[in-house]
Amino acid sequence: MKVSVDRALCYGSAECAHRAPAVFAFEDGYGVVRPGRAESGDDPEVREAAEKCPSQAIVLGGATE
Ligand code: SF4
Repeated sequence: MKVSVDRALCYGSAECAHRAPAVFAFEDGYGVVRPGRAESGDDPEVREAAEKCPSQAIVLGGATE
């Protein structure tokens, strides 16, 4: 499953980068998916990060283009 961060929603709390540092990084004030990790949406840490993102900016599954 795909994972991405919608920058229009992210307000830079950096929680995703703390919860799942293998997948998310914090760059230029935004959470970002690390290169090569865009298919990590099935990882339980990623799912938890998505659930707990305060702005619901982490998108799992389909429409990530
Ligand atoms: S947890 Fe959500 S709001 Fe915080 S940096 Fe990550 S994507 Fe952005």
